[in-house]
Amino acid sequence: MGKADEMEALIAEVSSCRDCGLHKTRNKAVPGEGSIDAGIMLIGEAPGSNEDMQGRPFVGRAGMFLDELLGSAGIKRKDVFIANILKCRPPGNRNPQAEEIRSCTAYLDRQIALIAPKTICPMGNFAASYILEKYGLKPEPIGRIHGKTFRVKNLLLDARIIPLYHPASAVYNPNMRYTLIEDFKRISDE
Ligand code: URA
Repeated sequence: MGKADEMEALIAEVSSCRDCGLHKTRNKAVPGEGSIDAGIMLIGEAPGSNEDMQGRPFVGRAGMFLDELLGSAGIKRKDVFIANILKCRPPGNRNPQAEEIRSCTAYLDRQIALIAPKTICPMGNFAASYILEKYGLKPEPIGRIHGKTFRVKNLLLDARIIPLYHPASAVYNPNMRYTLIEDFKRISDE
């Protein structure tokens, strides 16, 4: 099976997944989307209500700002892959629970392995902690590590991790916009 076929199969699996309780309240699962050959992978927290209705990541207000951030860094949305820690919306947008993260990140791990991106950008605390721990790095609050570059080199991956604030954090905090714009530019360094 080629990479694209494997991703298609994975997306079909996610769409009918019943591994945790979130399948009972979701409208649509949000497997993630973008280029299978992406050099950059962006990882958010979990779908919100717009994403849950459409089955696509970052299509609501945070998504509009994400598009702006990508634009200001000279990156096209179609060239990246966008995924989330959880593929289904937690009711009322509550925080992901440990058990949900444990079960759902099996899909994300497979997506990262398939795409093998050169740059992984976890957005927000939940995604940053998961990704840093996955690669044996110490998770720290996003306020301390946003915009920094962490190198990962092992048998399976040779990549850099750039943790970012979650775009939603700027929706109600205009000061955060500038920080996010500057941090997103780090993605295009090198
Ligand atoms: N917030 C996220 O973390 N992911 C989405 O897909 C949308 C909003």
